[in-house]
Amino acid sequence: MPELPEVETIVRQLAPLVEGRRIEQVEIQDPRWSRPLAPAELEDALRGRRVERLARRGKYILWHLEGDVHLAQHLRMTGSVLANPEPDPAHARVRMQFGARGRATASSGAGSAPAARRVRLVIDDPRRFGTGELLLGSDALAEFLDARLGLEPFDEGFTAEHLREALRGRRAPVKAVLLDQRSIAGVGNIYADEALFRAGIHPLRETGKLTRTQAERLREGIVASLEAGIDARGASIDDFKDIDGVKGSFQNRFLVHLRAGEPCPVCGGTIRKIVVAGRGTYVCEACQPRPRRRVRRPGARPGGRPPRPRAAR
Ligand SMILES: [Zn+2]
Repeated sequence: MPELPEVETIVRQLAPLVEGRRIEQVEIQDPRWSRPLAPAELEDALRGRRVERLARRGKYILWHLEGDVHLAQHLRMTGSVLANPEPDPAHARVRMQFGARGRATASSGAGSAPAARRVRLVIDDPRRFGTGELLLGSDALAEFLDARLGLEPFDEGFTAEHLREALRGRRAPVKAVLLDQRSIAGVGNIYADEALFRAGIHPLRETGKLTRTQAERLREGIVASLEAGIDARGASIDDFKDIDGVKGSFQNRFLVHLRAGEPCPVCGGTIRKIVVAGRGTYVCEACQPRPRRRVRRPGARPGGRPPRPRAAR
């Protein structure tokens, strides 16, 4: 599943291609993509509008269109966006055609070479979980995003303090909380493992018990692993490809993810695979010490009330 670095890779490629162009034609072949709107309703809302800006928030591609109309696109499991694919991909769900950039106006001087070529995009999605949701007005967009997404790792506000605040009181294992988009946006299974390894924190550690130092190390680990992913143009362990159909290379640079049985790049110990929050999780238990089990010793609670006699229960 594409995570923040994979979506960022797509947005960086796509923005210069579509910004300033008008959506001339859009065909939605899969009603699941446009739900709750019918394909024709969403097509009508998009057709003819100029793309003002393309952006990313969490794992969403945000299409900011003229007239304060926004499309929040999510690739989910197997979605990809392909530019001018030849031939058409096998599982095309949405096709978009963009006009030439800019209008021929009196002010356009001889030096401004118009990008005359039309652009065609195809959203390919074998498993059909991808979506495109229409939001009318920036308030509706903000409400939509705020309800689904927490801290954005590359925002200035993503400090150790804010992270600690977001994690406070959470009893779930830290990896489960990292996967929760409402806590931190954009981190999925790959980057959660990599971030926790960089931070030296075991994925099973209780989230609310992280120390100030651990929160700082976790913040650094999240940012560093996401940056490494973007530098490698994403990870392609299953279907991810960029808009030219090219795979990313971050899978060759994983520190622990998918490396069970291999030596830890830091200590040489063996990387293990465990299951946390139902997900395959990779860990070096020398660098990321397993949290100690709480041992119940009746009568040994310092300062506590004496334990109730067992027979009374
Ligand atoms: Zn190690």
